[in-house]
Amino acid sequence: MQRQALEAYLKDYLQIDRFKDYAPNGLQVEGRDEIRTIVTGVTACQALIDRAIELGADALLVHHGFFWKNEPATIVGMKQRRIKALLAHDISLFGYHLPLDGHSVIGNNARLGEVIGFDNVRIVEQVPQNLLWRAELTVPVTPAQFMARITERLGREPIHLAAEKTQISSVAWCTGGAQDYIDTAYELGVDAFISGEASERTFHSAVEQNVHYFAAGHHATERYGIEALGKHLADKFGLLHHFVDIDNPI
Ligand SMILES: [Zn+2]
Repeated sequence: MQRQALEAYLKDYLQIDRFKDYAPNGLQVEGRDEIRTIVTGVTACQALIDRAIELGADALLVHHGFFWKNEPATIVGMKQRRIKALLAHDISLFGYHLPLDGHSVIGNNARLGEVIGFDNVRIVEQVPQNLLWRAELTVPVTPAQFMARITERLGREPIHLAAEKTQISSVAWCTGGAQDYIDTAYELGVDAFISGEASERTFHSAVEQNVHYFAAGHHATERYGIEALGKHLADKFGLLHHFVDIDNPI
């Protein structure tokens, strides 16, 4: 398919105009016009770009792309090497940040709920852009059981900041670096909150508000959306798709 057709489809499918974001959503680096092979991955790091080159990608689609609002605008050093590699191989880079977190079917939050296997899932309407989700557990579990389930499903042990509650029957989550939503989770009255990372202050929020917090990994919680997006595009447009998981302990 044509690069411009892919870009236009994703703009509509991910409802990009609905989101206020810190990075441009869509085409960030322009490569060749014809797209047959796509590679997806979480972050446009050098290792992912190198794999995309090896796999003969025409386009690389990521959750964490380039040109964040707070970063220097210059193209030097690490950023120069990454962009140079893409341009040298005529590979387009597409980045989708919040629109990929919030998408109701293939988004990171939707997919994380499926991967962990939550029931009665819904979007928390008070928080804009579909960024906070919640579920009621059909059978309440102990914090240890809850932890074991996340560990098993994500293949990675979370950091657990324990509260006093002995049972978990409701949970909220937001993938990535959204630990500060723990205070919103408390206001919602849920027993547990899941995000990717933890800050020093997160510990006190968990203890003082009696909400179990699980930092399940920024990378680990955001692997599923971009992979699902790649599969969706492969099915819809007959593209060849490779999801590449460059492991990251954070
Ligand atoms: Zn993220």
